[in-house]
Amino acid sequence: MDFIVTAIIIICVVIWLVIASKNKSKFGINLKRVYCPVCNTKQPIIRMPGNGNQFIYGGTTCPKCHASLDKYGTVIP
Ligand SMILES: [Zn+2]
Repeated sequence: MDFIVTAIIIICVVIWLVIASKNKSKFGINLKRVYCPVCNTKQPIIRMPGNGNQFIYGGTTCPKCHASLDKYGTVIP
């Protein structure tokens, strides 16, 4: 019985993550490499978080123009 409950919870979390990724919310997962929209530089696979928010939600800072990007490659103002 515990196994079934655990399995249902895992499935719900996976579905939630897929929906979050499709909606490009900060809880989603993006495993594709992104390009900087400012200077068109391909971002490194291994992201170095520049601040706490990037560390938690998976953003990056462009190594070339130092623009702050989220994990989907959108510039954060
Ligand atoms: Zn850039």
